[in-house]
Amino acid sequence: MQLILLGLPGAGKGTQAQLLAQRLGLLHISTGDLFRAAAAEGTGLGKRAQEYMSRGELVPDEVTISMLLDRIAKPDAAEGIMLDGFPRTIPQAEALDRALEGQSRKIDGALYIQVPEDLLMARLTGRWNCPSCGAIYHELSSPPQQSGKCDKCSAALIQRADDRPETVATRLSTNRSWTEQLADFYQKQGKLRPVDGTGDPSDVTGRLLRELETVTAG
Ligand code: ADP
Ligand code: AMP
Repeated sequence: MQLILLGLPGAGKGTQAQLLAQRLGLLHISTGDLFRAAAAEGTGLGKRAQEYMSRGELVPDEVTISMLLDRIAKPDAAEGIMLDGFPRTIPQAEALDRALEGQSRKIDGALYIQVPEDLLMARLTGRWNCPSCGAIYHELSSPPQQSGKCDKCSAALIQRADDRPETVATRLSTNRSWTEQLADFYQKQGKLRPVDGTGDPSDVTGRLLRELETVTAG
């Protein structure tokens, strides 16, 4: 199964992907995580991506598409994938469809996590991430047991530089119209599954799982 998680920054894609991918036996691939890993390693790709990420802009399609297509061609992606943060533009969605078709695969569903925009700023500015195991926290809604320390692996938590209010504002405006266009793209393919992303994360997971039943049934 190939699934996409759509939604504005802060909608809860990473949180839900971590809960769902393991349960469904899918490989969770986040293009944001891939870019941050490349930036931390200081590769050419990482340095180029970092320029755009720090401004809250999208990394150009040609860079993003080739990185993602390389990743999904690896053997560990053959059993199924859950894409988080890709596609973010129509050319990315079209390139993905073409590449999967070449492997006799297809996107089965695009789960669109919807959250009113006025909640997103607080979600992003309060987000804390574990740089070691990738766990996601929020200082108010899901704080770690010990402030600043990961519950799962004890590493020191970090706040992403692009979660500052001024960068968040750019990220939201950059992604707003693309997200709508992507929802339209998958709607036309009969694959869009809108899901209410408000409330407790476990409630959102329940809604996503119910929508997935309609994907597997169809
Ligand atoms: P995305 O990957 O879509 O950018 P994240 O999964 O990283 O979003 O979530 C953004 C922030 O919102 C994190 O701090 C996370 O803990 C918090 N969060 C995620 N889901 C919920 C929810 N249902 N209610 C409240 N906060 C949430
Ligand atoms: P995320 O972790 O999904 O919030 O992504 C962080 C940043 O990485 C974004 O603000 C973009 O700069 C970049 N990025 C991640 N995925 C993509 C994508 N599919 N297309 C372009 N840029 C991306």
